[in-house]
Amino acid sequence: MTIDNLLDLDLPALKAYCERLGEKSFRATQLFRWIHQRGVGDFDAMTDLARSLRAKLAGAAEARPLRILTEKASTDGTRKWLFDVGAGDAVETVFIPEDDRATLCISSQAGCAVGCRFCSTGHQGFSRNLSTGEIIAQLWHAEHRMRAELGLGPGERAISNVVMMGMGEPLQNYAQLVPALRMMLDDHGYGLSRRRVTVSTSGVVPMIDRLREDCPVALAVSLHAPDDALRDMLVPLNKKYPIDELLGACERYLEAAPRDFITFEYCMLDGVNDTPAHARALVNLVRDRLPCKFNLIPFNPFPESGLKRSPRERVLAFGEVLIDAGLVTTIRKTRGDDIDAACGQLAGEVQDRTDAQRRMTRAIPIVPASAAQAGRTTAPSSNKQ
Ligand code: SAH
Ligand code: SF4
Repeated sequence: MTIDNLLDLDLPALKAYCERLGEKSFRATQLFRWIHQRGVGDFDAMTDLARSLRAKLAGAAEARPLRILTEKASTDGTRKWLFDVGAGDAVETVFIPEDDRATLCISSQAGCAVGCRFCSTGHQGFSRNLSTGEIIAQLWHAEHRMRAELGLGPGERAISNVVMMGMGEPLQNYAQLVPALRMMLDDHGYGLSRRRVTVSTSGVVPMIDRLREDCPVALAVSLHAPDDALRDMLVPLNKKYPIDELLGACERYLEAAPRDFITFEYCMLDGVNDTPAHARALVNLVRDRLPCKFNLIPFNPFPESGLKRSPRERVLAFGEVLIDAGLVTTIRKTRGDDIDAACGQLAGEVQDRTDAQRRMTRAIPIVPASAAQAGRTTAPSSNKQ
């Protein structure tokens, strides 16, 4: 007999589940609060829950935690967990404390099928989607672990913000993602405001439109290039959903978004996408089109990428072009460097069930912009993946 994982169920689904067991729906709210607000998974400890419900749940259901493989703490307070999700796959979750908030960076897939050239998860290939229960279990564990460690009292929260910026492309795991987002937002769950839950996407246009309808939260879009030719190389999904369509989806998203801007992420790659000319092209692309902010991410290198981080001065100069054009721009601080917890370094352990790794190794190296401009080489137009 399979044991139902209650972490897969958002509150409406848990109510339906309890009704099927012949229980009143308010019991589901009690159960949900025990699990998510209090971090209790043992039904016997849920003292005010009707004995009849506890008896029905015993042996039939559980709140299934993820098995922890490792926990690493950085000197800057960042914490990283590696969770076993079975069949040789492992995913990572990162807790990032700051002065005025604490953010949890959550994974949505074991690996990723998009295969961005600068991303270590992308280089690993794709294994499978995480279930809703596996997505929320990362928050469940981190929230209650950190609450205990920080000595927080009842009603105090350890995590104030969630970003879906760990391993995987959240909008390619839409059906499992949305109930997990609803649990984050639910007042009986984690009670996070829509503005403090961010979905980051490489640009799955139809799913941006669906998210606007189903569960609008803050949106970050990984742009990384001002034109299609370059973005095709860096983010292969661009061939399917080119920049103009992506910006169209962003404009529509703003009609329902909890924030009145879209955040564009831009990973700064030495000699590839980081010149003042790229910055000016970016300004022309977005300035008269939609309200947005830029977050420049210094590239976090990993051996197989063959790419380098832009020097600090180049990142600053790039940011200045954007700022001078009136675009709010921040440079992301690198956190958890000593434990490989920075953006794009989340590698986990993934059994590639696609041929992504083979395609990656076959891919022609990206030509630095400077070299291409100097005519020393031709643009790698044959870089079809
Ligand atoms: N798949 C989603 C969310 C996960 S990646 C997306 O692509 O948006 C989260 C962020 O980390 C993205 O902006 C991504 O471009 C960035 N990133 C990936 N690899 C990186 C690297 N090696 N260095 C810096 N940022 C990286
Ligand atoms: Fe996937 Fe995002 Fe990495 Fe691209 S950057 S490979 S979409 S996880």
